[in-house]
Amino acid sequence: MPLMPTLFVGHGSPMNAIEDNEYSRAWMDLGRSIPRPEAILSISAHWFTEGTRVDDDPRPRMVYDMYGFPDELYRVEYRPEGAPELARRVARSLSRPVAVDNGWGCDHGTWSVLRRMYPGADIPTFQLGVDRLSGPEEHFRLGRELGALREEGVLILGSGNVVHNLARVDWSMEGGYPWADEFDAYVRSRIESRAFDEVVGYSSAGECARLAFSRPDHFYPLLYVLGAARGEDATRVLCDSRVLGSLSMTSYLFG
Ligand code: ZN
Repeated sequence: MPLMPTLFVGHGSPMNAIEDNEYSRAWMDLGRSIPRPEAILSISAHWFTEGTRVDDDPRPRMVYDMYGFPDELYRVEYRPEGAPELARRVARSLSRPVAVDNGWGCDHGTWSVLRRMYPGADIPTFQLGVDRLSGPEEHFRLGRELGALREEGVLILGSGNVVHNLARVDWSMEGGYPWADEFDAYVRSRIESRAFDEVVGYSSAGECARLAFSRPDHFYPLLYVLGAARGEDATRVLCDSRVLGSLSMTSYLFG
């Protein structure tokens, strides 16, 4: 079986789930251009948990975890099967306690992207929570442990945003603030030069890192994907852009 790529997607606004735009089209193209996964393990910014959790629901419920958007968004149906056996195996295989928790489900960090990549909703999909009590080194290390799943055709998907500062979103702004551009460029340059330790140690980027997010829920999914990446992987940078001032849409494919 070919080694499955691993992917970080900047998901941005929930509206990308229903709008036809450069991001939704890029996600459609991605689904057609990478090998078809046997299963998808999604590490979504929107399941920011206490401790590491995984869902083993045979049919995870869909979570509409966004507020104040048009009705159309709440009518989206995207319910792939779960992957209960694989999820339990993941829980056993990580070098830390992992709680099985089916109280959340599949949130828009996952479905807004996957409904474009795999519109048939026919690939078993489950989520791993982002432990809010752990620091960046630990998330990177967990990603490295999960990386072996790529050999089984599992797509490890991190869904978040490198820059995600909602308090500073400007709905009338097209690009990014200078500090958003600066932090996104810092991360891109370190990824391209394989200095992943400087992405894990992102605070060394200085003031732009302090402004990039107020909590790291959207940043940490990237660290799982970097952990799962291998030296021999090709790196593709996708959708390199900032929107609404303080969101980065920059995405990375390894493999
Ligand atoms: Zn989000």
